[in-house]
Amino acid sequence: MNYYVGIDFGGTGIKVGIINEDGEIQIKDSFVTDPQKSGEEIVKYIAECTQKVIKDSKLPEANILGVGIGSPGLLNPETGQLKVVVNVPNMNGIYITKQLSEILGKPAFLDNDVNTMSLGEFYYGAGKAYQHIIAMTLGTGVGGGIILNGELYRGASFTAGELGHMSISRDGKYCPCGNYGCLERYVGRDGIVERFMNPKNKGFETSIDKYLEDGEVTPKAISLAAADGDKLSIQVLRETGEILGFALATLVNALNPEAIIIGGGISNAGDLILGPASETMHRFAYAIPAKDVEIHKAELGNDAGLVGAASLVVANLT
Ligand SMILES: [Zn+2]
Repeated sequence: MNYYVGIDFGGTGIKVGIINEDGEIQIKDSFVTDPQKSGEEIVKYIAECTQKVIKDSKLPEANILGVGIGSPGLLNPETGQLKVVVNVPNMNGIYITKQLSEILGKPAFLDNDVNTMSLGEFYYGAGKAYQHIIAMTLGTGVGGGIILNGELYRGASFTAGELGHMSISRDGKYCPCGNYGCLERYVGRDGIVERFMNPKNKGFETSIDKYLEDGEVTPKAISLAAADGDKLSIQVLRETGEILGFALATLVNALNPEAIIIGGGISNAGDLILGPASETMHRFAYAIPAKDVEIHKAELGNDAGLVGAASLVVANLT
């Protein structure tokens, strides 16, 4: 049995884990990184954490074939260089795979965290029955990954899959990316909350008060209220699903995938979003590619980052 190390590098911490060939997590641990330290020091610390996890796992060192790193931000997966890590600017410019590989004595691979999540779902989650999938994460932001012919499609500048910034309305809402009408502004966290708070909904009866988080309306509160039968919340999720489905129809026409896999916190609303998304996608997409495409909720949940990062080794070495 071979094993693969995954490093889920985030703004304030890292998670390190090891999976086996079946994608089962053998061990995992999490560590806090200090963004004030220099990039070199942070890489050294990541290497130490990885060595600790490998040692604690008691797995035969020779069977641990490599290390995959998933990171937010802009990066170059071919050179292994981090370009812009928004929350940890000291890491900008660091060739993380070269340095980790030298310290650990194993090949190391880098990609952005949504691409790694997509690979994880492709190998070990909701996408394992397919060769052509589109994965999308719905959270504060909206990200995507595209796998075609069994391989991650990165594009000419490694930015393929920026599905959240696909404009669905040329005179739509302003997006911080500088564009108007980006999908993320409608189906991301703020878009969903804005839809709920829309003044036209004033006076509607809603049971949301029971589910507020620190007094705030959040997508989670809306999902919980909807699951409890709250009509306004159900309507807000339905509209969110319809907008998502409208965007998915375009992707189905462009890429003819076998499945679309939706992950991220907001996907926990399940059929309340995915049902309307599927209906709308089928209504707007060209009939032939729409006929066979299936929409699934992502399966890897909280471990998606770790399993995904480790899947990068599988994608590169097998
Ligand atoms: Zn945008």
